[in-house]
Amino acid sequence: MKHTHPHVIPRRQALRKLALTAGTAAALPLAALLANSRTFAAETSGKASKAAVKYQDHPDGASFCANCANFIPGPTSDSLGTCLVVAGTISPKGWCLAYAAG
Ligand code: SF4
Repeated sequence: MKHTHPHVIPRRQALRKLALTAGTAAALPLAALLANSRTFAAETSGKASKAAVKYQDHPDGASFCANCANFIPGPTSDSLGTCLVVAGTISPKGWCLAYAAG
């Protein structure tokens, strides 16, 4: 019969334990990073701020949000909508530097 010390962990078991520990250690920061990036995306919507694109609530000549390819209209043609690239509510009569003729 093979005699083993009660506190000696067999090599294979020790390696498995080490791999699990390393995997868990690597997974935790990644999970934290993902959670942080989701929070960041939710907070910013992943969109530009109105200030960054110099959004204004009036047209720039014949260019305005209602005829921009990025505009997502509200329930009526006069109501506020949203934008694919700019955060917040957007006036159909607004305009910004990200205007894209639609
Ligand atoms: S990109 Fe600018 S101009 Fe176009 S809908 Fe969005 S806010 Fe309006």
